[in-house]
Amino acid sequence: AIQVSDLHKYFGDNEVLKGIDFRVDQGQVVCVIGPSGSGKSTLLRCVNRLEEPTSGRILVEGIDITDPETDLDAVRSRIGMVFQQFNLFPHMDVLANLCVAQRRVKKRSRDEAVQVARANLAKVGLSEKEKAYPAHLSGGQQQRVAIARALSMDPDMMLFDEPTSALDPELVGDVLSIMKDLAAEGMTMMVVTHEMGFAREVGDRLAFMDGGVIVEEGDPRQVLADPQHDRTKAFLSKVL
Ligand code: ATP
Ligand code: MG
Repeated sequence: AIQVSDLHKYFGDNEVLKGIDFRVDQGQVVCVIGPSGSGKSTLLRCVNRLEEPTSGRILVEGIDITDPETDLDAVRSRIGMVFQQFNLFPHMDVLANLCVAQRRVKKRSRDEAVQVARANLAKVGLSEKEKAYPAHLSGGQQQRVAIARALSMDPDMMLFDEPTSALDPELVGDVLSIMKDLAAEGMTMMVVTHEMGFAREVGDRLAFMDGGVIVEEGDPRQVLADPQHDRTKAFLSKVL
């Protein structure tokens, strides 16, 4: 589970997160929507300390990751992250992409890493691509490899930052369907997305962010069909 309380983040004088309270319970899928610049990525990146919070508390599986004593590598190895740009290692084939962190961080043997990698490639439907290099895969395939790579670390939870925004429209569905399967298996997930259909169908909760605050949050069907705040209404009228 993720518990964020009174999180503030400044970049210089610019207060980008203005007191965020937010939680993702075990096995839940929470989607985050909101306009560009509202702080969605910053919130996500604070959860695995890619950004350092200015103040506030973030508990990941009960561990305070804002505490300087906390072993960040240990916490991070339990959180899988998938970005808009797939961030695969271009000079490694697919199998090597899936094995490198398993070997370095999880200290797995080569055989074990390969076994885990193959299981996760099968899960995303790309078993036949293990020898391919990222440049020879479609965007959708690259993103599925990125998801398989994250899963190969056996994370307790997955963070997704607009995982389908860089994809051609016809490739979006494949990636969303893998995310849906993952949710059905009980993975704890925080998903920044513009895919309202996914949020409605798969999300347990939906949070709308604007100007560094969570303006409203609730059951996705309810928030999408009957937003309570003017800012949410204005945003949804543009994207739905
Ligand atoms: P988008 O939908 O475009 O991805 P977002 O909601 O993810 O937007 P953030 O990327 O979290 O928004 O950015 C929130 C604000 O913080 C923006 O004003 C942005 O310019 C600023 N910001 C983000 N990262 C940095 C940084 N490393 N240094 C300075 N300012 C930053
Ligand atoms: Mg962003």
